Amino acid sequence: MASGLFSNLDKSVATPIHCSPLDVQRVQAALAFKVEGFPCKYLGIPLLVYKLKRSEERPLIDKVAARIPGWKGNLLNTAGRMALVKAALSAILIHTSIALCLSPWMIGAIDKLRRTFIWAGTDSVAGGQCKVAWETCCRPKELGGLGISDLRRVGIALRVRWVWKDRREGRYPETKERSVLALFHAVTLAPVVFRSVSSRKLKVTVAEALHNNDWVPHVTGPATLQLLVEIGRLCDLLDGVNLSPNPDTFLWWFSQDQAYSAASAYGAMFFGSSPLLGAKQIWKTAAPLRVRFFFWLVLHGRCWTAERRFRHGLQPTPTCIFCDQLPETMDHILLGCSFSREVWHICLANLHLLQAVVVREEQALGWWLLARKGLPKVFRRGFDSFFFLAGWLLWKERNARTFDGVLSTPAQLASRILEEANAWCAAGFKQLAGLLARGVAFRAAAASS
Ligand SMILES: [Zn+2]
Repeated sequence: MASGLFSNLDKSVATPIHCSPLDVQRVQAALAFKVEGFPCKYLGIPLLVYKLKRSEERPLIDKVAARIPGWKGNLLNTAGRMALVKAALSAILIHTSIALCLSPWMIGAIDKLRRTFIWAGTDSVAGGQCKVAWETCCRPKELGGLGISDLRRVGIALRVRWVWKDRREGRYPETKERSVLALFHAVTLAPVVFRSVSSRKLKVTVAEALHNNDWVPHVTGPATLQLLVEIGRLCDLLDGVNLSPNPDTFLWWFSQDQAYSAASAYGAMFFGSSPLLGAKQIWKTAAPLRVRFFFWLVLHGRCWTAERRFRHGLQPTPTCIFCDQLPETMDHILLGCSFSREVWHICLANLHLLQAVVVREEQALGWWLLARKGLPKVFRRGFDSFFFLAGWLLWKERNARTFDGVLSTPAQLASRILEEANAWCAAGFKQLAGLLARGVAFRAAAASS
C-alpha cells in the first residue's frame, strides 16, 4: 500500500477448497471478494487435480477455431496459410501445454483444424486436397517437413522443464508423466545404463561412484549390446576426469550453454531421423515463400504432372505438354525436356554460366545441389534463387499450356525469366542481383573487346 496501489475488488476472486459454509461466509465478510468454487483458472490455465475433461478442453479448441474465419483463408495461397498456422494457431496452446498434458482427442481436433486450414483455407477438406501427409508436415524442415509444431512432442518438450528443475534443485521429479520422464532419461549421456541402475543407487554422488569404479556393480539387468556399448563409451569419457570441488549438478548437453531449453528438447525427439537431401537448402534459398513451398512439393513428388495423373487413372496419356514425347515428370519439366534445356541454355548464356553449369538430364534437385557446388561461393545463393525462379516459371508455362492453351517459345520464356529476375532483384533479393550483375559485366567486356 506504500506504493499507492490498491487491489481491485471487482477483479479479485476467493476460491475456498474444503471449507464449510460458515468459513465461506467469514471469508466473504472479511474480503468482500466474489466467491467461486473449485476448480478455477489460475494465470489462464485450468487449475485441476485431475486430467482435463473433454468439456474443459472444448473451449480451447473453440479458441483456435475462432481465429480461422477472420483470416479469409481461401484468398491466401497455401504458403501464406502455412505461415499463419505456424505463427498463430500452433502458438495458442503453448501456455496451456507447459502445465497440462493435452489429450490425444484434443490434439487430433486441433490438428484437423490446422490441416484443413493449410490445404483448403476453409473448415472442411477432402483427403485428396492434402498433398503431403500431416506427419511429414509436422517434421522439422531439414527432415523434409514444414516445421509445423507437433503438439504432442511440443508438450513433452515443454514439460520436461519441470523434471529438469526438480533434478537441478536436488528433488525427485514430481511428475508421473511417463513420456516426459522417458525424454529426460533419454537425453542423459547413457540412457540404457541410467535405466539399469536402481533409484536407490542413483542417490550416490559422482565422486563416490567413481571411487574404485564403484558405479559398475550398480548397473544391473540383462547385458544387452546397447548397454555394453554405453558402458564402454562411459569408461572412455571417464578416463582422466578431474572432479571439481563444486557439488554435483545436472547438465543438459543438447544446448551449448548446457541449460535446458524447450527447442533443444523438441529437437532431441527427432534424433536418429535421417535428413532429406535438399530439404534444408530449399528453405534457406532466397525466394518468395510460395516458390519455396512449390519446391517442397517437388521434393516430395506431390505435383500433379501428366505422368502422375496418368498413374492415378485421371488422364489417358502421360506425355509431356512441351515435347509430346517423354512422360511428364517434374524432373523432365524442370530439366530433362528439350524445351526446358533450350530455356536453360539461353538463361545460362545470359548469366555467363555455360562453362560452369552443364545441364544434364537427371534428377532436378540433385542436379541443382551439384551445380551450385561448381560455382564460386559468392554466387551460390544467387544461383539458388535463379534455379527456383526458372523452375517456377517453367511450371507456370506448363500450366498455361495445359489449362489455357497459351504457348511461349523458349526465347520468350527465357526473356520472361530474366525480366522476373530483375523484378526479384528490385524486391530485395541481393544475391540474385550479384549473379545478374556478373552476367552484365561479362557481356559489356565482350562488347568492348
Ligand atoms: Zn518434354
